[in-house]
Amino acid sequence: MTLQTLEANGIQFIDPALAPIWEKVEAGERLSFDEGVIMLQSTDFPALGKMGDYKKRLVSGDKVYFVLNRHINPTNICVLSCSFCDFAKKPGDPDAYELGTQEILDSIDPEMGEVHIVGGHHPDWTFEHYEELVKDIHAAYPNVNIKGFTASEIDYFHRRWKIEPEESLARLKEAGLRSMPGGGAEVFSERIHRELLPGKANADRWAQIHRTAHAMGIKSNATILYGHIETMEERIDHLVRLREIQDDTNGFLAFIPLEYQVGSTLLVPRHAPPMDDLKMIAVARLMLDNVAHIKSYWVMLGEATAALGLHFGADDMDGTIGKERIAHAAQAASPAGLARGRMARLIKTTGRVPVERDALYNELKVYS
Ligand code: SF4
Repeated sequence: MTLQTLEANGIQFIDPALAPIWEKVEAGERLSFDEGVIMLQSTDFPALGKMGDYKKRLVSGDKVYFVLNRHINPTNICVLSCSFCDFAKKPGDPDAYELGTQEILDSIDPEMGEVHIVGGHHPDWTFEHYEELVKDIHAAYPNVNIKGFTASEIDYFHRRWKIEPEESLARLKEAGLRSMPGGGAEVFSERIHRELLPGKANADRWAQIHRTAHAMGIKSNATILYGHIETMEERIDHLVRLREIQDDTNGFLAFIPLEYQVGSTLLVPRHAPPMDDLKMIAVARLMLDNVAHIKSYWVMLGEATAALGLHFGADDMDGTIGKERIAHAAQAASPAGLARGRMARLIKTTGRVPVERDALYNELKVYS
């Protein structure tokens, strides 16, 4: 038996339902909710990859960006208990921790393009504690972009300390905050919020806080946490809602599909297969026609799948420094230098051109 395929402008489709969507992509037309669902339900992921890559090349050509950054999680103590979270601990738990300011400052390398600060919703740490932390980092490393605090944390400052997002964001910006990460929403679906993250900022609140930040000149990222109990329709609804915010504010720098890490939370027996990861990248690129950058986040996907993602529509690999610490102990190179070489080599193996960037996508070095 031979496989029936349909050829349309250079792409061979095993799934004929994708051909009319491809025509719209080539014509530069916006894709609908239903077309998003058709793409996510399709098993023709090679064709989706070519469609996503076509769209990526219109934005970034052969370039793939990376940034040297450090993730700082000041504490894992959290008042909430999201069912998918393997990170949060309660006060008194033997694995609970609180990092001191000096410890945080010591973990930052002046060569970094950014630090990324997110943590638990601590029951006692005041807003001023975080404000001081941002001030101290900014004073010690004025050239390192400080990206910090999810919309969920900004919402918590209001719930806990009655500081409205307009005020907390203004004070954090004054202290040195330059951009915000995209986490906290997980999946916008009200059903998911009820079942998995009760008590956390809902979709409307998340959107309101990002709109407020964008209006104040604080750019942000956006994410989705996929691969647990969400439906394909809920994933696409999430993308469409983000696209609407971006139409209004143009404040999202990048979109990052985050694969749910099963850990000990076991919402599903195993993590999403690579085919699903790659489809998610391609469909995000095709649906989010107004967001310039889509990340293939190697920390969660692993280097092999993340590298493949660069042929499915992603144009950014992040570049978190962390694994380099052991290598740094063994060799005399800086952690940033090791991370830089590692990212550039990985991107080059995919035939793409590595570009080191800063947090706002200004190009620092092209590895042509
Ligand atoms: S708010 Fe964040 S840290 Fe706290 S339980 Fe939920 S996901 Fe975990």
